[in-house]
Amino acid sequence: MTHKEGEARTELLALVRSLKAQIRSEIDEGNIPSYLYIKGDMPQKDRPLHNNLSTEPHKAARISVTLEDVKQELGDCQRCALGRLRTNLVFGEGNPKSGLVFVGEAPGGDEDMQGRPFVGRAGQLLTRIIEAMGLKRKDVYICNILKCRPPGNRNPRPEEINACEPFLIKQLKAINPRVICALGTFASHTLLKTDVPITVLRGKFHAYHGIQLMPTYHPAYLLRNPGAKKQVWEDVQKIMRLLSPQTL
Ligand code: URA
Repeated sequence: MTHKEGEARTELLALVRSLKAQIRSEIDEGNIPSYLYIKGDMPQKDRPLHNNLSTEPHKAARISVTLEDVKQELGDCQRCALGRLRTNLVFGEGNPKSGLVFVGEAPGGDEDMQGRPFVGRAGQLLTRIIEAMGLKRKDVYICNILKCRPPGNRNPRPEEINACEPFLIKQLKAINPRVICALGTFASHTLLKTDVPITVLRGKFHAYHGIQLMPTYHPAYLLRNPGAKKQVWEDVQKIMRLLSPQTL
């Protein structure tokens, strides 16, 4: 195969993957694209297309999006300006079927270097919190609102959130956890679409598309304010009570 043919093949593969992810995402939303029906099998115009609620099994087949699909769709993401500044994209890691997902803000320097979420000082504290819950990091899923590090760890910008949040939503759909723990103001505000202070939001479960969401303080805040660890412990105990006796 010539170099040119190799390039064309890679491009074609990327296109197929992206089309596959797009179709899966549409089906997941209940919008079965018309070109997927064989002739004469089109639904009536006003019939709802909730594929997973359909009473017709041959049309109800749910093609679920996996984390791998989401990763492939993200690819070498350059959807916002952070793409060209990163060392590594930090997708997220852990158990893809976990009942519990932790969502932070954005990768910091250590995470950018390693391509893994929460591996710096704040991450080590998060690991200790998870272990105090009687769990291991590999039992839960850990990710962030943004997948790339904002320079100097500045706050994420609206255009960066707009570009990145759809992928977090797809990740959460793929995992379908029982509980999301939003770490800090930024994750809580972004997910819950509110600007109510974290001091008010934390400690209570909030509804997030049918999933229970518990906002709590970010581990980086705890490093600066160790006195707030007690409240985080109370918050995660509520999560543990909700999840038990279910295994993660
Ligand atoms: N802070 C975050 O919010 N996320 C990380 O991955 C690391 C630090």
